[in-house]
Amino acid sequence: MQAQLPPHLDSGAIRHIRHAVRVVERQSDQWRISGADGTSVLADILILATGHPPASRPPVVDKLSASATSRIKDVLAADAFNAIGKCDPVLIVGSGLTAIDALCRLKALGHTGTVSLLSRTGLMPRPHAGGGFSPFGDFSSTDLTSAKKLLSKVRATIRDAQAQGIPWQSVFDALRQHAPSLWQALPMRERQKFLGRLRRWYDVNRYRMPPQGAAILGQGIDNSRVRLETGDLVSITDDRQGLLAGLETREGRTEFRCSHILLATGPDFRDYAAHQRFLLGMQRDGFIQSDPLGLGLACDFAGRALTIAGTPNSTLFVGGPPARPAFGELTGVPEIAAQAASLADRIIGCVARETRTIVISPTM
Ligand SMILES: Cc1cc2nc3c(=O)[nH]c(=O)nc-3n(C[C@H](O)[C@H](O)[C@H](O)COP(=O)(O)OP(=O)(O)OC[C@H]3O[C@@H](n4cnc5c(N)ncnc54)[C@H](O)[C@@H]3O)c2cc1C
Repeated sequence: MQAQLPPHLDSGAIRHIRHAVRVVERQSDQWRISGADGTSVLADILILATGHPPASRPPVVDKLSASATSRIKDVLAADAFNAIGKCDPVLIVGSGLTAIDALCRLKALGHTGTVSLLSRTGLMPRPHAGGGFSPFGDFSSTDLTSAKKLLSKVRATIRDAQAQGIPWQSVFDALRQHAPSLWQALPMRERQKFLGRLRRWYDVNRYRMPPQGAAILGQGIDNSRVRLETGDLVSITDDRQGLLAGLETREGRTEFRCSHILLATGPDFRDYAAHQRFLLGMQRDGFIQSDPLGLGLACDFAGRALTIAGTPNSTLFVGGPPARPAFGELTGVPEIAAQAASLADRIIGCVARETRTIVISPTM
């Protein structure tokens, strides 16, 4: 990208406008995109490629004093690790790849205190296989129309793979390649079931731990510096000794003392439009809608945004993670790049007249 973009920027074919979008309105048959500083741009076609929303915050966090909240940080915040002392006990809320990254960062900073990783299911990302295996398994069948059938097929394919000495990871690599068509074949009710019962299982097998992270986690568990907790964070009390986190676990209520809490809860896709004022405005005007399964913005397989009435709009597209409602899986760069390319092909194919397209993204 670094090599390919500059000539187009130099020629003016691509204009990079560094402003935060505040309002998007319809003006005649164009979109008017207005920035925070009052400048505006007109476009025939608009692609909403606004990326991941901020992480979800456990509701208890918002009820605390300023002194307590200063020790509870979103793990991606620039100052997340600044105040953590080398021996301070830390609770990381979340146990996905971002939590593993946080663990690695603490280690790199020379932190030697205890670290607990909290998750509702207790499931952790699984390790990569190594060894350069190719994807294994055929998931192109049109018969995989329920969450149960899909699960059975994955299990059977893993058995076949293992019988041939191929690791289970290769099966998930094949599954990943077919994820959009498999998702699209699932009726709404089955998508709901998949999200309710299988999403975490899919995530820990699909989004696997890098070997470096796996090693740091393994060492931490072996020397009892790292603990895995299963439960829900239901309260936080701030007293003179630090923070007391109340956890609801399967065994009942328990308390956990720490000095700092890092939130690694992952992007909160529920009601995607509510995260940004301009998206909320577009939803209010009926141009877009957050999808009912809480995955992003409702759109069709071509990436066209669905209006509040459910009609696809051929001048308004959704690109990247917020387009997950139509594709199921749109997180990794390879999948996002493929969707972006097909979106561009469609726009080029459909629009005969000269078009100015604005992609909302100030940092390229
Ligand atoms: C911690 C982390 C680690 C990851 N690791 C990997 C990995 O190892 N491999 C992998 O394949 N994927 C990884 N991903 C996923 C991948 O990086 C993201 O899914 C991908 O970057 C999303 O690309 P995007 O262009 O759609 O969105 P982003 O890169 O999020 O870009 C969205 C853009 O929209 C702009 N924007 C939003 N709102 C406005 C507004 N109102 N006005 C103007 N501009 C706006 C933002 O400023 C930003 O420039 C990771 C993601 C995270 C969070």
